[in-house]
Amino acid sequence: MAGYVDFAALKPRVSIEQTATLLGLNAQPAGQQLRSSCPKCLEGGKRAIVITPEEGSFYCFPGKKGGDAIELVCHVKGLSQKDAAGNVVSLFADITSQNLETLAALCDQKRCDTIELF
Ligand SMILES: [Zn+2]
Repeated sequence: MAGYVDFAALKPRVSIEQTATLLGLNAQPAGQQLRSSCPKCLEGGKRAIVITPEEGSFYCFPGKKGGDAIELVCHVKGLSQKDAAGNVVSLFADITSQNLETLAALCDQKRCDTIELF
């Protein structure tokens, strides 16, 4: 598997709204954004996570972590870099069947670790 990750090709296929739905988040519209409780942090109530569809980004206030759709999966699922690949791949299998290797490569490259720095 090539180490190169084509983010430009991946991102349009996985919207952050789809990601939130797949994760079972109860995201509710709030202006141009969505707000949801965080099943990982269990703090901050129903507005713990803010999702900005226009930017494809999220930020979890109690968790002090943010990023894109993939990082949202890593945060909510509490995935380590070792088990992230398999979980993320299965979660997105329906909508990214042509990008399984891309997603696996994404997690192999320790992107899940980078969110720890936020
Ligand atoms: Zn959180």
